[in-house]
Amino acid sequence: MSRFLSNELSKLTAYVPGEQPQDKKYVKLNTNESPFPPSNGVINAIGNKEIERLRLYCDPQSKLLKSELARVYNAEIENVFVSNGSDDILNFAFMAYGHLGVAFADITYGFYSVFASLYGLDAQIVPLNSDFTLNVNGFLGLNKLIVIANPNAPTGLVISTSDVEKILLSNPNGVVVVDEAYVDFGGTSVSELTKKYNNLLCVQTFSKSRSMAGARLGFAIANAEIISDLEKIKYSTNPYNVNALTQIAGVSALKDNNYYKENALKIIENRNYTVTELKKLGFTVLDSKANFVFAKSDKISGEELYKKLKENGVLVRHFTSERIKEFNRITIGSIEEMQIFIEKVKLILGE
Ligand SMILES: *Cc1c(COP(=O)(O)O)cnc(C)c1O
Repeated sequence: MSRFLSNELSKLTAYVPGEQPQDKKYVKLNTNESPFPPSNGVINAIGNKEIERLRLYCDPQSKLLKSELARVYNAEIENVFVSNGSDDILNFAFMAYGHLGVAFADITYGFYSVFASLYGLDAQIVPLNSDFTLNVNGFLGLNKLIVIANPNAPTGLVISTSDVEKILLSNPNGVVVVDEAYVDFGGTSVSELTKKYNNLLCVQTFSKSRSMAGARLGFAIANAEIISDLEKIKYSTNPYNVNALTQIAGVSALKDNNYYKENALKIIENRNYTVTELKKLGFTVLDSKANFVFAKSDKISGEELYKKLKENGVLVRHFTSERIKEFNRITIGSIEEMQIFIEKVKLILGE
């Protein structure tokens, strides 16, 4: 309890990011980072000249970056927003559109409920179906802010574009945020639908498929009205929210888009390997279209497996909430990392 914090904020439970331990070198499969380095273009883009320019403020409009995004995502610049990670965009969306209330699934990205409490919003929790698929009907006709991760986290499951359209059509007076942090690993983006639906906010990030989690770069595609709402909030909080080096890195990454597409294909291959091996060991594995899998075993509890893997130098993510406590979320890394992971699971299970 802080002496200085308001009562509301004292009650707030903050988001808990995955561990980033510095004590020893782990096979790190807990925060959905990419095992691959940024492209050569990104690595070579930042030299002394760019560092010397750090004395100047960066371009608050991020013009070059937005125009590259517009090119790659077949949009106009007025339909593109960039931010300090996609968490920043989600934050802005809750701030901007949460006053009518907000709805999201019970099992989804943990930050949604944090933002809802932060802004004191009326949050409607729509439980996933018993097979962990999204209860699409539960999101119809709400006319409030709706936030859906597609693929969902930590399940990896997707909903179809036609289901997203159903939700959009039945909520004409509410903004529907589709958080596509993992879309490049086998999902289908709804970014093109922003031309048809003025209540759709499609959010993506450079953190996962573009190997830039540490650079903090997220972007959104939406109707110009939504983008200008987000710009208003950005200019009312931090106009320089995407720093100069990150803007340069982002532009370079977009020019090397094929490199990242190939990496995503490798992740899908490594995911297939991991799923096959886990199933051979008797695990239940959800059908993931993301760079992680969500799996549980009848032979060992979720928590015990998490702990034993950590003792064996492999970090995965375990969540304690009742519905998913027997699962672990395992990030898909390089094939070598996944082989080590499977070996350690075998060792722990005594197989
Ligand atoms: C990782 C993740 C984000 C946040 O990504 P940043 O761009 O690094 O802030 C957003 N949504 C989901 C579902 C994620 O898993």
